[in-house]
Amino acid sequence: MSVVETLPAISPIHIVDHNFSVAAERLGLDEEQRKLLKMPFRELKVEVPIRMDDGALRVFNGYRVQHSGARGPAKGGIRFHPQVDLDEVRSLAEAMTWKTALANIPFGGAKGGVDCDPAEMSTGELERVTRKFISRIHNILGPYRDVPAPDVNTNGQVMAWIMDEYSSHHGYTPACVTGKPVELGGSLGRKQATGRGVMLVLKKYLNDIHRSSRGMRVAVQGFGNVGSHAAMLLEDEGAGVFAVSDMYGAIMGRNGKALPIKEVVEHVRKTGSVIEFPGSESLSNDELLLLDCDILIPAALECVLHAKNAPKVKARIIAEAANLPTTPEADDILTRKGVTILPDILTNLGGVIVSYFEWIQNLQQEFWEEERVNAELDRYITVAYNDVATLASEARVPFKVAAYQIAVKRVAHAEELRGV
Ligand code: NAD
Repeated sequence: MSVVETLPAISPIHIVDHNFSVAAERLGLDEEQRKLLKMPFRELKVEVPIRMDDGALRVFNGYRVQHSGARGPAKGGIRFHPQVDLDEVRSLAEAMTWKTALANIPFGGAKGGVDCDPAEMSTGELERVTRKFISRIHNILGPYRDVPAPDVNTNGQVMAWIMDEYSSHHGYTPACVTGKPVELGGSLGRKQATGRGVMLVLKKYLNDIHRSSRGMRVAVQGFGNVGSHAAMLLEDEGAGVFAVSDMYGAIMGRNGKALPIKEVVEHVRKTGSVIEFPGSESLSNDELLLLDCDILIPAALECVLHAKNAPKVKARIIAEAANLPTTPEADDILTRKGVTILPDILTNLGGVIVSYFEWIQNLQQEFWEEERVNAELDRYITVAYNDVATLASEARVPFKVAAYQIAVKRVAHAEELRGV
C-alpha cells in the first residue's frame, strides 16, 4: 500500500499563535502576560537510538514539550510519525494547555513525539523506540509532573510499555500515563472517549439548531482511534457516514449510500486500511474533504483545511476531531461561507477528560463502571459546550474564538494567582 501525501507546508505554530492572539486581544492581556502564557515551561529533545531487526542502528529524534503546568500536571499525548518535529510538538503542547483549561480539569498542557514511522517498523522495534524514549525523558514525567497519553500511531500497548519503563525507574506507578489497557489500570471507555466526545458535541450543537443526527450525511478524514469511534457512534445515532479515509486513500458508499461502519472497522482490522472495502468506490483524500455533506470530520493530522481548499468545502458543519486541522485563513473563508466550525479544543476533549478519570482511578486505586465514565464524560462535555455556546452567542463570535477566550482566561487567572 502506498501512502498518500496531502499535507501542505503550513506550520501548526501559525494556527496556535493566531488563536491565542485573538483571545489575548479580546481579553486585553498585556505583553508580559502574553509572554508568560505563550512560552513553553520546558522543552526536551533527546536522541533515541535503537537496533532495528536487521541489526542496523537507527537514531530517531524524540521530543517532550511541557507548555504549562499552571493549572496542574502537564498532560498530553505521545505521537510516532515521521513528520514529528519541535514546532509540531510545541504547537500541540500549547493546544493541550487550552484544551485542559476549557475542560476545567486540573491539568496543564504537554505533547511528545518521536520521528519514527510505525508503518515500517516491527512490534519489537516499536517497543525498543518506546522504552528508549521513556528512559531518556522519565525524569521530567510523573503523576504530578507530566502524564502522557496516546496520540497518532500510539495505542494502549505503547502506553503499557511506557508504564512499565517508567515503573522500572520509579517503582509501580500506573498514574504516570493514561490510555493504558484496562488490565493495567486503564479506564473503561477511554479507547472510545475522544470519538464519543466528538459525537456528544455534535449532538449538542445539532440540538441547539433544532436538528438531529438522524439522516445527517457525514464524511470522516482519518479512520484511526478517533475517526473510527466517532463514525461508529454517529452511525448508532442514526447518521449516515458515507465516506471515510486513512493515510492510504479514501472510500465512499456506492451511489452516495452510507457505509456499514462496523464492517469497515472489521475490514481495517484484517487488512490495515479502509481502501478496497468490498462494494465501495475509491476517491482521493483531497476529494473527501470537498464532498457534498452535512458534517465533515477531520480526524487525522493538522493543517488539512487551508486557504486553497477551504473555498471548495461543501460541508455545512466541520467538527474538528484532529488537533489544529484548520488554518486561520481557512477559518475565515469557511465562517464567511456560513460554515459552523466546532473547534478542536472543544470537539476532541473527550479523550483528555477520560484520561483525567483514569488518573483519578489510579491515584485512588478505584475502578469505575463504564456507565459512570460515560455519564461523567457527558457532564463535563455539556458544561464545556454550554460555556462556549453561551459566550459565542452573547459576543457574536465563532465557537473557536469563544473557546480560546474562555481557556486563555482560565490559565491567565491561574498564572496570576500563583505569581511569577
Ligand atoms: P491514529 O493513529 O489512531 O489515527 C490516525 C488516522 O489518520 C489513521 O487512520 C491514519 O491512517 C490517518 N491519516 C494519517 N495521515 C493521513 C492523511 N494524510 N490523510 C488521511 N488520513 C491520514 O490517531 P488518533 O489517535 O485517532 O488521532 C487522530 C487525531 O486526533 C490527531 O490529530 C490527534 O492529535 C487527535 N486527538 C487524538 C486523541 C486520542 O485520544 N487519541 C485525543 C485528542 C485528539
